[in-house]
Amino acid sequence: MAILFEQVTAVTMDPTQPILHNAYVAVEGNSISYVGTQPPQGTFTRTISGAGKVLMPGLVNAHTHLPMTLMRGYGGGCDLQHWLNDYIFPAEDKLDSRSVKAGTMLALAELIASGTTCVADMYYFCDDIAQCVDTAGINANLSRSLVCFQEQDPTQMESWKEMEALYEKWNGYDHGRILVDASVHAEYTSFACPALWETLGNWAVNHHCNMQVHISETQSEHEDCIHRHGKTPIALFDQYGLWQTGGVAAHCVYVSEEDMDLMAQRGITAVHNPMSNLKLASGIARVPSLLKHGVNVALGTDGVASNNSHDMFEEIKLAATLHKGVTRDPMAVSAHEALSMATVNGAAALKRNTGMIAEGKQADLILVDFTAPALTPCHDVEENLAFSSNGSHVQLTMAMGQILYENGQFLTIDLEQVQHKLKDYALPHIFQK
Ligand SMILES: [Zn+2]
Repeated sequence: MAILFEQVTAVTMDPTQPILHNAYVAVEGNSISYVGTQPPQGTFTRTISGAGKVLMPGLVNAHTHLPMTLMRGYGGGCDLQHWLNDYIFPAEDKLDSRSVKAGTMLALAELIASGTTCVADMYYFCDDIAQCVDTAGINANLSRSLVCFQEQDPTQMESWKEMEALYEKWNGYDHGRILVDASVHAEYTSFACPALWETLGNWAVNHHCNMQVHISETQSEHEDCIHRHGKTPIALFDQYGLWQTGGVAAHCVYVSEEDMDLMAQRGITAVHNPMSNLKLASGIARVPSLLKHGVNVALGTDGVASNNSHDMFEEIKLAATLHKGVTRDPMAVSAHEALSMATVNGAAALKRNTGMIAEGKQADLILVDFTAPALTPCHDVEENLAFSSNGSHVQLTMAMGQILYENGQFLTIDLEQVQHKLKDYALPHIFQK
């Protein structure tokens, strides 16, 4: 199927032609086949008018836990450790395949409707999550997050076997729409078993996998690690070879200047999760410093239980605002830099050919309604996208050339059925005493 967007304002994130007015963008199959200001040759199955609209790359949410949508708004007013121990872990103990699927489909509906086309997930019940991703049509880097509380052969853990099965079944599925990453949950949930870090680092090399880890989210976690090992989590994991294939390090609120140099050297992306870090009172990552050290910075919502939203436009706005206030520098993080974090930088983090409107890139695109009152007038497209847009301004979401959502309608998800499954099964199963 060939689709043409015509007379659209294209915010491409391509440095050679960043913003094109009255542009034409053609999609053939999975990819973008033409970008320019002249109408392209050829015939198209469908032409979509872009008058009054902005076409931009679909957003990349580089860190979340999809099924945690079930716990949206649960355990408010806690810091990370109390929130996890008193609310989240007891709820997670009751999860089963059916409830995880309901929560994941809800998460995917929210993500797609608010313009996300690619997501990095770290959780368990990953086969159920992969099935939902398959149905919904979004791109996903899925990881079976490993924890280990005693010294043992990590390859004998049930979770390790699940990770291997996940890789065998889903890695590269549907032309690479699903990729399987390796993942250590965090240092504080695995320090009893350093063999896990070494073995998993080597496994990632042998399987050409990316690595997803929570890093230095809270001050106590960061300092406890230094007390235990004499090293920061980033440096400790490096010693055990966990970063051999690069990595996606979520949070990085307390990483040191030396950590930042190491991250730049090893190709480790810092995923900034500003809302989650603020809500759990964890702190604020030093994003301008990370950028100065040459670290790739992407954006994530984190699980919805600590956000409480999957709307990436909120993260873009926070990323572009927060650091101005902290540093009292109005150019600390620009609108363009924040948009880059949610697109090209996210694509680099997840090693995907997306995040940019350019020929040969994967056709992951969103159309934003710039006739909405909140987006009028428009003196600067990127300023409006970063500071005035929210997910509800997204009119169309396309992933790999397939339209997933248009004018309020989901084309791959039966939202009514998802709501029934939540109400009739998942929520009572988890939360009713
Ligand atoms: Zn997380």
